[in-house]
Order: sequence, then C-alpha cells, then structure tokens
Amino acid sequence: MSIRNRHVVIVGAGIGGLTAARALALRGARVSVLEQASEIAEVGAGIQISPNGLAVLRALGLEGAVRATGAPEAQAVVLRDRRGRRLARFPLAGLERPGDYLFLHRADLIEVLAQGARAAGAELHLGHQVDRVAPGLRPVVHAARGGATEVDIVVGADGLHSVVAESIGRRDTPFFTGQVAWRAVVAGDEGPPEVELHMGPGRHIVTYPLRDHRLRNIVAVEERRDWTQESWSRRDSAAAVQGAFSRMGPRPRALLDRIETVHVWGLFRRRVATDWHGGNTVLMGDAVHPTLPFLAQGACMAIEDAWVLAEALDATDDTRAAFETYQRARHARVVRTVDAATGNAWKYHLRGPLATGAQLGIRLLGATAPRS
Ligand code: FAD
Repeated sequence: MSIRNRHVVIVGAGIGGLTAARALALRGARVSVLEQASEIAEVGAGIQISPNGLAVLRALGLEGAVRATGAPEAQAVVLRDRRGRRLARFPLAGLERPGDYLFLHRADLIEVLAQGARAAGAELHLGHQVDRVAPGLRPVVHAARGGATEVDIVVGADGLHSVVAESIGRRDTPFFTGQVAWRAVVAGDEGPPEVELHMGPGRHIVTYPLRDHRLRNIVAVEERRDWTQESWSRRDSAAAVQGAFSRMGPRPRALLDRIETVHVWGLFRRRVATDWHGGNTVLMGDAVHPTLPFLAQGACMAIEDAWVLAEALDATDDTRAAFETYQRARHARVVRTVDAATGNAWKYHLRGPLATGAQLGIRLLGATAPRS
C-alpha cells in the first residue's frame, strides 16, 4: 500500500509542514494540514535557504517559483569585528552550485510552499488548533474545531511547543538559551548580496538583502541572563535594539537607525528528541530538533526532514519501519547541525583576548579562502 491513498494529517503549516504536505501528496497520500492560525502567514523577516534546502525544493518542483520571488543569490559570507573592520570574506563560488544559496522573504517562501501543497492536492485547514493526538496504529486527532478524527498517519510539524510531541510522550520543556534576537526588515539595500556578520562582545548582527535588493533583513542577537516575558516574542522599540548595539561599528548602527518596526524573540531550545515517533505518529522540524539560528539551518533541516520522511513512507507498507528509517537517516545529521549552531553562539560573542586571538585565526583562514 505504501503511502498511496493513506490519510495523513499534518499538524502545523510552517515551512516544515507545508513542505511535507507537498512531498507526501505528490507520492499519492491524502493529506490534510491543520493549522491553528487563521491565515497562512510568516513573521516579516528573511530566511537563508542554503543549497541543501534548495535541492529539496527543486526535487519538489518549486525552484522556479522560489526564484521568481526575486530572492537574491548569495555570493559570500563576510565577517567583521565590532568596529566594522573586515576579518574575512568567504566566497560561495567554491560551492558545487554557487547560485543555490538564496535569501528569501519568509512570507514569499510560505506562499510558494502553501500554493505548492494545494496544487499537489493537499487540503489546508486554517483556524484548526489541535489539542492532542491519541497515538496508536490508527491515531486520533483531537481538535477544538472538528472534534476527534481517526486517521492513518499523523505528522507533528507544530514547532517548538509541539502538542504532538507531548502526545507521544515527550516530557521536557523548552529552555531559554541565554540569547534574544531582534528581527527587522528595512527598506532599501546597498552593497553586494552577501551575508554580513558583525561580531561584538556578547552580541552579533547578521544582515542580507531581500526581494531584488528592495529590502534588507536584520537579525540582532544579544546575550541575556533570562527571559521573563510570558510569550516568546513581542514587539519592541527601535530604541531598544539601537541602544543594545550602540558600541558596534558605523555600518550596523546605520542599518539599525533605519528600523521602524521590530520584534524581539527569546530564543528557546530543547535537546534533540530520542524518540521521533510513537504508533503511527511522527515528528519533524522544530517539533523534534529546535535549533539556534546561528547556522541558518532550522528551516533547511525541516525541509530535508519532509523529503526523507515522504521517501521512507513511500518505500514500504510497514509504517513503523519507515519511521525508523527516517529517524536513522536524520538523527546524527540534525544533532551535528544543532551542536554547530550552538557552538557559533559563543564563537560570535567572544570578548577580550579570546576575541583578538579568534579574530586573528579568522583573518588567516580568510586569507586562504578561494578568491572570487
Ligand atoms: P514552525 O515554523 O514553528 O511552524 C509550526 C506551525 O505549527 C506554526 O504555523 C504554528 O502556528 C503551528 N502550530 C503549532 N501548534 C499547533 C497546534 N496545536 N495546532 C495546529 N497548528 C499548530 N532557518 C533556516 O533554515 N535559515 C535561516 O536563515 C533561519 N533564520 C532564523 C532566524 C531566527 C531569528 C530564528 C528564530 C530562526 C531562524 N531559522 C532559520 C529557523 C527556522 O525559522 C525554524 O527552524 C523553522 O521555521 C521551523 O519550521 P517548522 O515548520 O518546523 O516549525
């Protein structure tokens, strides 16, 4: 039977859930996506999609639509110190397909994925919050709207605070990572299509162009002891982020001065789960391996999950064996990725002699990088 004609409910219409919806529907599954929000929307911010993520979107037939959004192709990663001095420039031209590293507006990516899911036959149900799932060989989805529905397979793509993960026995709670992130998009762009990383003591700023260089994305991260807000994100004042970075170089300060609207996030994480499935229910994306954004891989990992899960389910009639194949294929890779992102947190934020030593190392490394 494989996945053909089986009824799959995906909880969550984020980047992971929507990619899985298209991947599974293209392989013949009957897919329903339940999303708690009343509209498909994403925070107004950018997202870097590296070649691994784009390879999946290409295989799903979405590369043209993604590129048509005007996403600039990244050329290099440039590292700068607190004063704005260039430490190194790492060109992406050495990649196998250099044009495959894209800067996207999140709203554009979500729109492409939602249209792609619908075009493949998936049904998207908005305003449907799932309360819990009763796992088992015929899992039952309990939702405030729609009551209890028995289905063949449930995919939990419901992010960091996943109720599906809880339903299959996950008990740990998300922990604050000691980092907060302001996110803003400003009008106008100057400079080449590069990831600019400005590093300072206990803080850093990442910035890159969006939408045919009409916009510029800014992520500004600062270390904090705690996060006392009830929600994990809220609107903030431009003055708050400008004040936090007032000792950085002129380039980031000039960018921050252009901010009109900004939100701030407490960055939370969980350890990567050891059990990714229970009965015919399985997890993916941030629901199973939330990561710090300092490697720009959280969404790319969710996109990869979607492909591997669909492929595993299509290859056998044995759902449990398919889930095990999927977890085996993904676990070590996402652990490596999550650890590398966590490691970047302290590397970006070094102070004093440690920073001086590390920056010398970066200069030397940069001097040996291929030129383009
Ligand atoms: P989510 O995006 O969290 O989606 C979950 C969905 O489930 C939501 O729509 C939610 O409303 C819905 N939902 C939740 N609970 C329920 C429920 N009970 N019932 C129904 N629906 C529910 N990653 C990259 O690859 N590149 C980057 O450049 C990058 N930059 C980042 C910058 C920052 C500052 C941050 C914080 C993250 C960044 N990431 C990046 C990480 C990336 O955003 C996440 O890893 C990714 O969005 C996770 O996708 P997801 O679909 O698994 O979960």
